[in-house]
Amino acid sequence: MNEYDSNRIYDIVSLIGYTKTLVKKEADCFVLNTCHIREKATEKVYDEIGRIRKDFKNLKKPLVVVSGCVAQAESNEMIKREPYIDMVIGPQSYHKIGDLILDYERKKKKINETEFDVINKFDLLEKISNSQNKTSSYITIQEGCDKFCNFCVVPYTRGPEYSRSFSQVINEAKNLVSNGVKEIILLGQNVNAYNFNNKYKLSSLIIALNNITELKRIRFTTSHPKDMTDDLIECFTNCEKLMPLLHLPIQSGSNKVLKLMNRKHDREYYFSIIEKLKKANENIKISSDFIVGYPGETEKDFQDTVDLVEKVGFLNSYSFIFSPRPGTPSAKKELNNIEENIKRLKILQNILENFQYKNNKKYLSKNCEVLIENKLEKEEKYFGRTKTMIPVILDADDSKIGELVKVKITSCNKKNLFSSHKINKVKAA
Ligand code: SF4
Repeated sequence: MNEYDSNRIYDIVSLIGYTKTLVKKEADCFVLNTCHIREKATEKVYDEIGRIRKDFKNLKKPLVVVSGCVAQAESNEMIKREPYIDMVIGPQSYHKIGDLILDYERKKKKINETEFDVINKFDLLEKISNSQNKTSSYITIQEGCDKFCNFCVVPYTRGPEYSRSFSQVINEAKNLVSNGVKEIILLGQNVNAYNFNNKYKLSSLIIALNNITELKRIRFTTSHPKDMTDDLIECFTNCEKLMPLLHLPIQSGSNKVLKLMNRKHDREYYFSIIEKLKKANENIKISSDFIVGYPGETEKDFQDTVDLVEKVGFLNSYSFIFSPRPGTPSAKKELNNIEENIKRLKILQNILENFQYKNNKKYLSKNCEVLIENKLEKEEKYFGRTKTMIPVILDADDSKIGELVKVKITSCNKKNLFSSHKINKVKAA
């Protein structure tokens, strides 16, 4: 979501004459768009600002803006602690950044804009042309969350659930597709809770996008198991452009820990959703997020997670040691032993990596459909992804960017597939 927000911030500041520079000392404004989901995010922001201050010691001070969830969570504290910061802007207010910069230039007065102004944000973003011209593009359809998992800052930094209007999303999608985008990834902190006016759900958006002729692939992320409704699961049967990979975080395989986390579902419920998904599309793969060492997690709880991972066989998953986020209920809990946490994380990551590698090996010598996204920066090779998002490095040329091709996979490692064979174009569905 931050990538999407950063691109929109750039679209807005370009309207008041700003352009990107790759030469740091040429910049007269820095926007640090921040994420607060992991520990140390705040310290990283101060470190980066320290580096800017050092680089500009003998130069004119640039305008320094901190946007995103760290700005929302820390607010005025940031300006007090680091006077080099001129402006903090929360994630629901960044649409105002152009006006705020002009205002700052006139008054030279520090600005703190951390209101939840999400309706106005999306109304304004709809009117700003999206300048990204990529093969794959994000569209934010929903923000905020009402689930209040005990470890998570999102309900506090992004606010309550809000769904964009159906027509706004479809217009943005059509605009992107007419600019060459071939894959759309619908985004939301709790994307499958999308509900516009009790009339349009995530399934309504997917069905509408499936009818856009030039669009080739649809994905959505991130979903909560509780919101995996039957109409949405049916889309994996009926919408051929919806890719067969679902990111469905579970966080732990232990019912006790899920309860402590306030996840509002248990492992049996999660298994029942996986079963329905497999019935809807036998090729579907699942990826997930795991928190290891949540306060109160015992060895038995961890083994429940290992058991669940082995039963489901996840791909492309993320796993982290629990890190307390200030202001959340979990932050008050006593931490588990760190050495034990590190040991458990290694065991889990090893199992997840083995699944990935085993899955990648299944592609060897087989033909596979790839959407070519871009040329690699440092090599004469191209980058694309399979239907289940596995990166593929292949031989191609610029004319093939944005095309669906069939390639034979000649080698692989734990993360990537490689092809050194001739590519064949995939016929339109
Ligand atoms: S459902 Fe996701 S975004 Fe919402 S509180 Fe839980 S972890 Fe955070």
